[in-house]
Amino acid sequence: MTTLVWFRQDLRIKDNPALFEAAKSGRVLPVFILEPADKTGETHPLGGASRWWLHHSLKALQQDLPGLVLLKGSARHLIPEVAKQAGVEAVFWNRCYEPHAIERDTDLKSSLKDDGYEVKSFKASLLYEPWELETQSGGPYKVYSPFWKAARQIEIDDALPAPEKLEIADYDGGEELESFDLLPKKPDWAKGWEGLWTPGEAGASERLGSFLEEGLKGYGKLRNRPDLPNVSRLSPHLHFGEISPRQIWHATQDVMDRRSSLGDDGMKFLSEIAWREFSHNLLYHFPKLPSENWRSTFDEYPWKEPEGELVKWQKGQTGYPIVDAGMRELWQTGYMHNRVRMIAASFLIKHLRLHWRHGEAWFRDTLVDADLANNSAGWQWVAGSGADAAPYFRVFNPITQGEKFDPDGDYIRQWVPELRELETQYLFAPFDAPAEALEKAGIKLGDTYPKPLVDHAKAREAALEGYEVVKQAGQDDA
Ligand code: FAD
Repeated sequence: MTTLVWFRQDLRIKDNPALFEAAKSGRVLPVFILEPADKTGETHPLGGASRWWLHHSLKALQQDLPGLVLLKGSARHLIPEVAKQAGVEAVFWNRCYEPHAIERDTDLKSSLKDDGYEVKSFKASLLYEPWELETQSGGPYKVYSPFWKAARQIEIDDALPAPEKLEIADYDGGEELESFDLLPKKPDWAKGWEGLWTPGEAGASERLGSFLEEGLKGYGKLRNRPDLPNVSRLSPHLHFGEISPRQIWHATQDVMDRRSSLGDDGMKFLSEIAWREFSHNLLYHFPKLPSENWRSTFDEYPWKEPEGELVKWQKGQTGYPIVDAGMRELWQTGYMHNRVRMIAASFLIKHLRLHWRHGEAWFRDTLVDADLANNSAGWQWVAGSGADAAPYFRVFNPITQGEKFDPDGDYIRQWVPELRELETQYLFAPFDAPAEALEKAGIKLGDTYPKPLVDHAKAREAALEGYEVVKQAGQDDA
């Protein structure tokens, strides 16, 4: 039998159930389709940084899987067309959970079955299917802690090896990777990223190995420190499916079994992997999560219209060093540390009172790990409008957050070099530094480094005032 295996967010050979099953039963025709958003009805198209990653990830997959057929267009048309041309008997894929993908895949599955193909889909990018876990009263979990408590009871199957034998079917056609035109050109803002990231399965596996060896110890506490190397940076690899959560789960458990002192850190790490599961669970059950406030009372919030502040936030020119460091790390590397994502997002929503959708869109365009479920859940969490969200009145103080999580100022100095010479005690709020300290460090506020866009105390007060409207809407609804 020949099986068309449709690769999507599973750009790997190992622990790939669709590929494994197809290879067991005969020849495999591996296909990847780049779908322009206007052909899929997707409201949240692939951002620039994700396109960069995808290019390199596909390049790596082509090396591991010569014969991978690349196509561009609508999968609804291309999959049946190629299946017919190549004379395959079956079509297999691993499941995706984004709303537009579910709709497309459901339609395709039924039309291919009508045409007489064997069609199978598999669980590959999540540990728990969104329909696998239910609360005692029968609905989906809306709060993370009970979700994780229930999830932990479920045994995770072993990861699959690469297929023992892989016989690739011939196919006359397909496009060159270059024709996908995924890389930035003028300007090439991703110059140097190849030294920072290694997209592809081998890079993912290496990253996991080095994190478990060197970063896991202390993860529980140090994961909040953007100045330290104690997070895994596996998020883009996970998003593109270059590694599966199942592989991560078992590799972490193995390390915990071998080194009992790493038990708590290992469990904390797995609980973060479970946040990813929880976000996907939310998106599956509430497909409007990327575009609508989960708590509709937030529709009443008096958001401001974006003017120059949005661009200043995007460029890391807010005058608050920890926010600016994060935004510049994002622009220069395609990544931002989780703690700083929370601080920078809170600043946009609460200090600038701009709708979280503006931040979601910027992150989607600039993050290499941009992920519909995690990004929308993350933004709604910070906004307070989400399911299991931080309360709106918890307004992160960008000065004390910097002092607490970047105590020596190393992270700020790395990304905001114009403040490098400033004494640490003034680094988190240069606008409060004595004139001599600024002069000694060669800083002219408003010239070499911006004055603060807003005053923290006043901005906080205004944010909370706006929240009164949301509270009132909640009372009116009750
Ligand atoms: P680690 O600490 O090493 O965690 C391991 C893995 O667990 C991550 O790779 C990720 O898959 C998962 N994880 C960790 N924290 C979270 C979380 N809070 N929510 C969901 N999964 C989590 N993550 C994305 O993958 N894509 C996004 O687009 C994204 N947007 C975000 C937007 C905002 C406003 C916020 C506050 C968070 C966002 N996150 C997003 C979640 C989190 O910041 C990143 O997953 C994490 O920083 C990735 O770095 P890491 O792999 O080194 O994390």
